[in-house]
Amino acid sequence: MPRFVSFFRLLFLVLPAALIFAAAPHPAAAAAEAVVTDVRVGEHGATTRCVFDLTNRVAFNVFTLSDPERVVIDLPEVGWRLPGRPLPSRTGLLKTLRYGLFKPGTSRVVLDVNGPAAIARAFLVAPSAGYGYRLVVDLVETGGEFKQGNSPATGLWQASLPRFSPPLRKPMARKRRREWVVAIDPGHGGVDPGTIGANGMYEKHITLAVAREIKNRLERGGSFRVVLTRKRDIFIRLRDRVAIARDAGADLFMSIHANSIKNKNIRGLSVYTLSEKASDKEAAELAEQENKADLIAGIDLNNESPEVTNILIDLAQRETMNQSVRFASLLVGELKRRTRILRNSHRFAGFAVLKAVDVPSVLIEVGFLSNRQDERALRSKSYRAKLASSIGRAIEGYFAQIEEAYRK
Ligand SMILES: [Zn+2]
Repeated sequence: MPRFVSFFRLLFLVLPAALIFAAAPHPAAAAAEAVVTDVRVGEHGATTRCVFDLTNRVAFNVFTLSDPERVVIDLPEVGWRLPGRPLPSRTGLLKTLRYGLFKPGTSRVVLDVNGPAAIARAFLVAPSAGYGYRLVVDLVETGGEFKQGNSPATGLWQASLPRFSPPLRKPMARKRRREWVVAIDPGHGGVDPGTIGANGMYEKHITLAVAREIKNRLERGGSFRVVLTRKRDIFIRLRDRVAIARDAGADLFMSIHANSIKNKNIRGLSVYTLSEKASDKEAAELAEQENKADLIAGIDLNNESPEVTNILIDLAQRETMNQSVRFASLLVGELKRRTRILRNSHRFAGFAVLKAVDVPSVLIEVGFLSNRQDERALRSKSYRAKLASSIGRAIEGYFAQIEEAYRK
């Protein structure tokens, strides 16, 4: 866990366009046409997390009142277009949830709670990965008296927390029917050759060749803009790869690698998504090996320690991970049809390069350079084209699903 968190901290430093931010400083402007489209409540350990999906950014105040014990969220006057199912209730600390117009210009949500509770945090998250704006309110049990007041630790949570200032990315909704941005990351490069194949092929050359092929394939359709994290044989730090993708406004990040293993008979593709806990020992070792790229170039990752709010990242990460997993399963499905893939071909591991908090990310190991057949296949342009076509179809399918979701 500590290692995982510190990578987040590290990434956060280099993510200038942080999508996670405190809410709008101009409530009046923001109030215009915000609509609450869903309310979700869940338990995350000792925390009861309430998430409000919103069409726009809004200012908000969150505070507690007693007799009866309740948490109040004041918003500008908003519209309500909730799905046709009962409102969340009896989840964690939440007993019931009510909402309505409190006074002209102010909509109020009241969370009746079943015991002494405090507001652990309240913040707005910018659109990403198919989600719009989300207002998140975390409640924790105080174990004693119901906390009332307006000190930051317990009471009033306001919209204008100065922690993150938002160079905002365009909300996804506005990108509908426009081009999607896909970042393809050819693994290794420059002083870091990656693994070296049975016939002397360097991983860094294979990854770039495959990445170019995918770019060509996707751009032919006209609905994608493809950004390569490197276009030539050059070393790029892992976190810079993520930063390049984010700066380009990537909606999806895909890192390309090729594997190598002692047993020269093993061959096939595999797809990885991020997890704190690797799905198996092999996956853990592979992640460790790939993460070494920065050390090879003599960069000590541990010198970076900016302060970040881990919980914000945790939240964004959780949603991004779900998207990544969804894409990975589409990808495995497409690859299965025309290429040879490993059993358990979707695996989980802590690859540093997959840790963008807000960009769904997968890593694909396109084959084993330690296997002569795999290496030969990857050398051939026609095989790489076949591979790129499968990957291209998976990417198109993934975004088609997102567009479909918007239409509903
Ligand atoms: Zn690699």
